[in-house]
Amino acid sequence: MNISEKIFSLRKKLHDHNYRYYVLDDPLISDYDFDMMLKELEHLENENPEYFDINSPTQRVGGSVTKSFITSVHSTPMYSLDNSYSLEDLKEWEKRIKKIIDTSLEYTCELKFDGVSINLTYKDGELVKAVTRGDGVKGDDVTNNVKTIPTVPLKLRGDFKDEFEARGEIVMPISGFNKLNSSRVENGEEPFKNPRNTASGSLKLQDSKEVSKRPLECLLYSVEDSKMFNNHIEFLKKAKSYGFNIYNTYKHSTSLEEIFEFIQHWEKNRSELPFEIDGVVLKVNDFYQREILGFTSKFPRWAMAYKFKPENTGTRLNSISFQVGRTGSITPVANLEPVNLAGTIVKRASLHNADFIESMDIRVGDFVYVEKGGDIIPKITNVDKTKRALDSKKFEFPEFCPECGSKLQRLEGEANHYCLNYNGCKPQIIGRIQHYISRKALDIEGLGQETVALLVNNGLINNYSDLYDLRFDQIVGLERMAEKSANNLINGILDSKNIPFERVLYGLGIRYVGETVAKKLAKHFENIDNILNSDFDELISVDEIGEKIAKSIIEFSQNEQNIDIINSLKNHNIQFEIDDSAKNVSSILLGKSFVVSGVFSNFSRDEIKKLIEINGGKVSSSISSKTSFLVAGSNMGPSKKEKAEKLNIKIISETELTNLISGQNLLF
Ligand code: AMP
Ligand code: ZN
Repeated sequence: MNISEKIFSLRKKLHDHNYRYYVLDDPLISDYDFDMMLKELEHLENENPEYFDINSPTQRVGGSVTKSFITSVHSTPMYSLDNSYSLEDLKEWEKRIKKIIDTSLEYTCELKFDGVSINLTYKDGELVKAVTRGDGVKGDDVTNNVKTIPTVPLKLRGDFKDEFEARGEIVMPISGFNKLNSSRVENGEEPFKNPRNTASGSLKLQDSKEVSKRPLECLLYSVEDSKMFNNHIEFLKKAKSYGFNIYNTYKHSTSLEEIFEFIQHWEKNRSELPFEIDGVVLKVNDFYQREILGFTSKFPRWAMAYKFKPENTGTRLNSISFQVGRTGSITPVANLEPVNLAGTIVKRASLHNADFIESMDIRVGDFVYVEKGGDIIPKITNVDKTKRALDSKKFEFPEFCPECGSKLQRLEGEANHYCLNYNGCKPQIIGRIQHYISRKALDIEGLGQETVALLVNNGLINNYSDLYDLRFDQIVGLERMAEKSANNLINGILDSKNIPFERVLYGLGIRYVGETVAKKLAKHFENIDNILNSDFDELISVDEIGEKIAKSIIEFSQNEQNIDIINSLKNHNIQFEIDDSAKNVSSILLGKSFVVSGVFSNFSRDEIKKLIEINGGKVSSSISSKTSFLVAGSNMGPSKKEKAEKLNIKIISETELTNLISGQNLLF
């Protein structure tokens, strides 16, 4: 096989595996093998840029940045749907249709997916455009972002039509949404409100690489050109064979009573679905009949949405308790008389903060209404004041921390109360250690989140540096701690001494210092002392470090107990310095941007890139007018060379690069 055949064959295989995994849910190979294949393709494509393909499976990872989205006019408007709320409404609708067509009618019904609609255009089987609904007439071209969604086929399969335009819904499954939120909370960021808004916001991110990290899915539900198929069921089946994700709950029926059962079934069982729905959509199945029915100014006459009511129920508010977060924030929680809401028993609802309670005048003992709307956590929507006891008292937000008793503070402009007893408040202590051992931080194997609480509650540890003083005999014999688990725990703790500095820095749990910020700080300051000793101006001079982060770092380093803990970690040989290979050796290439291409004789390509970076230069993957040099080895792709020549970019050899670095060559 020659190179081009190899590339084409890998692309085909990867598209196939992607389809098996995401659409058929029947993978043939392991994730690892998939990644290896993708890596191989990536490598071949980099080496042979003349075979570039914007719809290659490698393009899923994103990387393009869109500053402002181009507006695109829809070929036909993206209409809303008419709404109904009862079987009677549906019968009325059928009567109206029958006045126009007096033949027998068949319907399909689908779930009404609660996300954002998207219009996808394919030409010769290739995805060429993805546009949001916008105002219905025109939307934003978000093609680069949509390409990162694995259930949007980049190339159609089988006997697809040359021109194919279809519409679907982009949703964020609940499990992915929850995961995303817990990692945001872990990083000190505000959690997102609900999956729909998050899906919508994700499509509008400027950096498609960020979009590729968001767990989004596309569910297809309509085709633009109704002449392509005889009916909706045929369309759904064909679309599935083209590689689209067609959710398999749809139903085909002639009876409205049967359809109503389908509706009631999903109204009751919606919580079993992996994503949120807000109703069911009924559609006339036959495309010829649809054409006769046509549209009103707002809706298709041949479709009808049945909207579920936001699930709402009344119950008693028994008490209000308070959760103290890792950063000391206090969240009031409503403890409710358990009640069935949409198939799940609800016992708690978030009360957000003092303002929320105050604005609704919520009191303990009140009869309240709870709703499960777009948000995952049920919320209180109303208070029935007529059922309020005569001696009911206005709720007063506590002045003192419910866990440690210290005085709570509410900072200017913040909605939350905080407990500032940083080193003496148990949930904060436990939360911080839990963060320290978490996967993206020190990743201590053999030590779970609950064990941390157990160790703190038994007085064995009080901060994360105490972990390194734990002895086998102290922990063996604790609840669920057999000899083997105790050994694993001790070994896991020892292993964490090899975790690189940037992850240790993240693990310290400084407010607003998430993974990315920790990386930036580690690279810039190189060790912990430089960070802790730097002042405000120095901190904000670092790329992407703003005032809020800088203040938080300073606050952390001014706390003596923190410094003691860090000194103790130092004594235990935790990595507090970036390793030599990541350190900058010079800044001679500062401000210069390089593209590296081809095969070199003295270095591997990665070594060349590293060499550039540790001397202050920047490496990027594609040539633009901002590129300062193209470092060319043998077998470099002709298109890169052409582009460099066209943009007047200097092409240098590896020897010229090393000369540049040693200062022998003043090409600048
Ligand atoms: P609405 O915005 O309430 O008028 O409802 C119309 C929207 O429902 C469409 O723009 C789609 O985004 C969405 N929708 C979700 N699922 C479906 C479906 N199965 N068929 C048609 N539209 C759907
Ligand atoms: Zn406290």
